[in-house]
Amino acid sequence: MSERRKFIAGNWKMNTTLPEALELVTELKRLVSRFRSVDIAVIPPALFVEPVHRRLEDSNVAVGVQNILQSGFGAFTGELSADMLKSVGATYCLAGHSERRQFYGDTNEIVNGKIKAILNAGILPIFCIGETLEQRESGQTFHVLGEQMRAGLEDISTEQLSTMVLAYEPVWAIGTGRTASPEQVGEVHSWLRNWMVENYDADTANAVRIQYGGSVKAENASELMSVPNVDGALVGGASLKAQSFAEIIKGSL
Ligand code: PEP
Repeated sequence: MSERRKFIAGNWKMNTTLPEALELVTELKRLVSRFRSVDIAVIPPALFVEPVHRRLEDSNVAVGVQNILQSGFGAFTGELSADMLKSVGATYCLAGHSERRQFYGDTNEIVNGKIKAILNAGILPIFCIGETLEQRESGQTFHVLGEQMRAGLEDISTEQLSTMVLAYEPVWAIGTGRTASPEQVGEVHSWLRNWMVENYDADTANAVRIQYGGSVKAENASELMSVPNVDGALVGGASLKAQSFAEIIKGSL
């Protein structure tokens, strides 16, 4: 039996206005206040991190951020650094989300730089990896995941990795309504755990929580969360309604 606490995070992507964001978390705070055995986070657009964090004061819901620039302060017009986001309440930060890799050129090397910047700022990275449908169908899944792990974690120490969260998000399951089967998820998560045992050590591998992400909803959460080595979920669409996100959290208990 794993002693890892489940961790359910909701990635809002580029959705909500400020009033909608505040309404969502006000309801969520009420709905999940009794779920104390699981870690919960919302990941709003960066602009709303501070007001959402304030609204969630004295609650069991943390706040994360979707992206940072890997450099620190400086002449980078329009960008935000990990230190800035920490100073307004971010506890977690995504790195390597497939939408960033696909649409904004975040290579494995850039993702590695972002993970280092996030760790240096004292925030916890949620490191996202996953294969495309084409890669899965051509038998490349483990090659792709291995490369994302190797390059994304370059020069990341055992101590640093043990604080991180890994999110396995098959690209073909994100926002498509097509969820990976429990067998597919179990196979990849156990492969990732072994990868960490082989490339780091058993204690570190055992400390890292591996979330599954890809069309998680209230109807499939409980089955997916009971798969061995699944330590939580990264939820997109279904985290935009307090009720459905709360049901997913309940399903993980
Ligand atoms: C995501 O954005 O990380 C995600 C998993 O989205 P969805 O739950 O909508 O598939």
